[in-house]
Amino acid sequence: MNKKLADLLFPNIDKTPQYYEELYPPRNLKEGARVTRLAPSPTGFLHFGNLFTGMVAYKTAKATDGIFYVRVEDTDQKRKIDGAVEVMLEGLSAYGVNADEGVMIDGSEKGEYGPYTQSKRKEIYQTYAKYLVEEGLAYPCFCSAEELEEIRNSQEGEDIKGYYGKYAKCRDLSYEQIKEKIDAGMTWTLRLKSPGDINKKCYFDDMIKGKIEMPENVIDIVLLKTDGIPTYHFAHVIDDHLMRTTHVTRGDEWIASVPLHLQLFRCLGFKPVKYAHVAPIMKEENGNKRKLSKRKDPEAAVTYYKKEGFPAASVNEYMMTIMNSNFEDWRKMNKDADIDSFPFNLKKMSVSGALFDIAKLTDVSKNVISMMRAEEVFALSYEWAKEFNETLAALYAKDESYATAILNIDRGNKKPRKDIAKWSDIQDYISYMYDETFEKNYELCGNATPQLAVEVLELYKDRFDTNDDKDNWFGKIKDICEPVGCTPNVKEFKADPEKFKGHVGDVSTIIRVALTGRTNTPDLFVITALLGKERVNERIECAIKYYKEKING
Ligand code: GLU
Repeated sequence: MNKKLADLLFPNIDKTPQYYEELYPPRNLKEGARVTRLAPSPTGFLHFGNLFTGMVAYKTAKATDGIFYVRVEDTDQKRKIDGAVEVMLEGLSAYGVNADEGVMIDGSEKGEYGPYTQSKRKEIYQTYAKYLVEEGLAYPCFCSAEELEEIRNSQEGEDIKGYYGKYAKCRDLSYEQIKEKIDAGMTWTLRLKSPGDINKKCYFDDMIKGKIEMPENVIDIVLLKTDGIPTYHFAHVIDDHLMRTTHVTRGDEWIASVPLHLQLFRCLGFKPVKYAHVAPIMKEENGNKRKLSKRKDPEAAVTYYKKEGFPAASVNEYMMTIMNSNFEDWRKMNKDADIDSFPFNLKKMSVSGALFDIAKLTDVSKNVISMMRAEEVFALSYEWAKEFNETLAALYAKDESYATAILNIDRGNKKPRKDIAKWSDIQDYISYMYDETFEKNYELCGNATPQLAVEVLELYKDRFDTNDDKDNWFGKIKDICEPVGCTPNVKEFKADPEKFKGHVGDVSTIIRVALTGRTNTPDLFVITALLGKERVNERIECAIKYYKEKING
């Protein structure tokens, strides 16, 4: 009877599970190598959580010399958007999450276990569906949406809701009844005839969440929809088996479905995969934790980091700090090591959800950028500027080596400065190095007064020489101190502040403010040298004029 029913339901399916088992043999990988995947639904929006989960899958494979592949889960045709896959894969690729196999950025497919796009696998799903019917483990259901609604309504107060037991109206239809309905043109879904026992428990060991115990699945869930397209549950089990996935890393919204999935693996005669359920990225708001939200949080979109100009290396570094609890300690011990050499471990992931913190990302990024070479900072920020900041791109284009020299100031020091967290910080950071963007600001601090400023600047203007080396240059600044009533010795000043108008720090500040409009900058000597004699003189003249006017009211 089952064979007859199977042929009635799937007259065009002539392959068998055996055929696919042979077509997709177990992978020939070294012991312990893990096969993981990312299975995006092509919505076109790459959530930070997708990148995070993708990274987990990628790292899991890479840490074991395994395979990481991408499978596109496009069975929900309503949600399909053209070009969405490319957008998502490009987004992942920018952070180094590149698939060894599966769907590639250009839309092509690579690998022996394809097709890797679910809409192209209909025949495979139906072959296994037919097999389940033959085994008496699946049956067609003719219930309409209204009937299903009625069933739901009648289940108030029941512990378990859904299509099962006495509610499963179509479970025991005879072949004749089924044939009659089909001949009458009724549409059907294919349901699992769940062998689950309400009183039994399902046990499994999640690689992130640990040991879990849940009631067995008893629901006769839909395997194939009326159009013959599989549900997520059915497709997941078949695809991950035939693609020889060893570890399924996915969002923990699926954890409640594990008893069902394990049951499906068993019904189909497959060895189950290992699961690692990744908790969602959380955000703290007014003392409460909630999921990072596409609707509320701009930083939920991976495009946000690109637009702001956070380098991929920073986002990756930050992601790893929230991905593995021991990463920061490892980083302290391995300051210059490649992030890929960190021994990523699923077991070190947060069970309840990593907390996203933009301030922390900013700090991590400042650190990452402070370790980069000027050429790299220039190249990456130039690429960013061409897309997102015309002004900066135009400044860079004028003289690339000048721009690189600016970015090189204080770089490579023992304690490099950490002024730049993202490329969008650079325009402001270097603005005073260009006349086009230099903003005059003559506000002083410390002991400096307009009167003292005029005296200092007059002397500096005459003495300054672009051929001076740093010692000479600083020597000259010290020499200015005495004639203007200051001391080159800060200690001396502190011992008797009444005796002096200021100290060498105040003298430097006056020069710094005149040249840059700021009281805090990187190495003033290099700035001065890069600005060059003409611009330095011009800016000093301007400042003198300003202070004189101020003094004279
Ligand atoms: N397409 C599913 C989703 O986007 C993938 C879940 C999985 O990784 O198995 O949620």
